[in-house]
Amino acid sequence: MIDVRQLPLAEGRVLIPFERVARPCDFRPAAAVRMPNRCPFCAGNETETPDSLTARPADGPWEVRVIPNKFPALSPLSPLDAFDPVTTRLSTIPLFFGQHEVVIESPRHITRFSELDPRQVEYTLQAYRDRIAAHRVDLRLVYSLVFRNCGADAGASLEHVHSQIMATRWVPANVATEIRYLRRWRKRCGRCLLCDLLEHEIRDGRRLVAESAHFAAWCPYASRFAYETWIMPKQHLAAFDEQPDGMLRELGPLLQEVAGRIERLPGGTGYNFWLHTSPFTGRGRRPLEGGFHWHLELMPRVTQQAGFEWGGGDYINPVAPEQAAATLRDLA
Ligand SMILES: [Zn+2]
Ligand SMILES: [Zn+2]
Ligand SMILES: [Zn+2]
Repeated sequence: MIDVRQLPLAEGRVLIPFERVARPCDFRPAAAVRMPNRCPFCAGNETETPDSLTARPADGPWEVRVIPNKFPALSPLSPLDAFDPVTTRLSTIPLFFGQHEVVIESPRHITRFSELDPRQVEYTLQAYRDRIAAHRVDLRLVYSLVFRNCGADAGASLEHVHSQIMATRWVPANVATEIRYLRRWRKRCGRCLLCDLLEHEIRDGRRLVAESAHFAAWCPYASRFAYETWIMPKQHLAAFDEQPDGMLRELGPLLQEVAGRIERLPGGTGYNFWLHTSPFTGRGRRPLEGGFHWHLELMPRVTQQAGFEWGGGDYINPVAPEQAAATLRDLA
């Protein structure tokens, strides 16, 4: 039983997965979240997890596999069998319906994204793309959010390197806000705000962290968090699930490099990253071509959100993004 409750005074929803409270790791102190001996994500222990939704490579032993989350925060079951896309009105499908998946990124027990070999990173990005594409053709779903919690202080409950995908019946609040601002800019200037921002950052250079032929990584001018870093294609591209293999092959090393530098920040910090891509709300479930520009946001847990941030919704960032970018460039 899962409840989805709309915030009455703000955008956003609260998921209450009642059974999930019993999850073993939720309330343990961070240091205790270690399962070195019997890790369910290690090769050989596959019987402890649900069956794979997809695995790579296509033949031979798996390097990356995607499974349904054993403790989902959304229900994959509800109206699944009764659903007829022709006769069922989508509005009758409850908000708690959705997919909550785990991407296991290595058969070996490694804990850092930067330690994956390049093939595994490529398979992981392909898995993101293909799962989002699978969710796009499911008429019941509206969005597919990919995210990584790396380190116990960033909310990881298992240390074996993995990320998660949650596909929902609604557009997440932060993405809805981004779409609104992008739309406003396009109406006023006729261009994509994120294209304009990145063009400015590349020209300015002070906040650039790394670059490849088609991608750039930079610390935003108004970074909310210390060392906050975004990675985005230089070309205007709305949907991650339309990226060809070649683009993902180029993105992999850049993402891994930037994540590796964040892992090497003094103090050894955890971090989160998430992928913002176009929702499935365009005509015929097509991406919002002009209306979105996919990007990755990386949020190191160097500073804690505290009363000012939670209370006011504004941020205090003690590391200027110009300094953060210089530090991240030096860690190369
Ligand atoms: Zn493991
Ligand atoms: Zn753009
Ligand atoms: Zn975003």
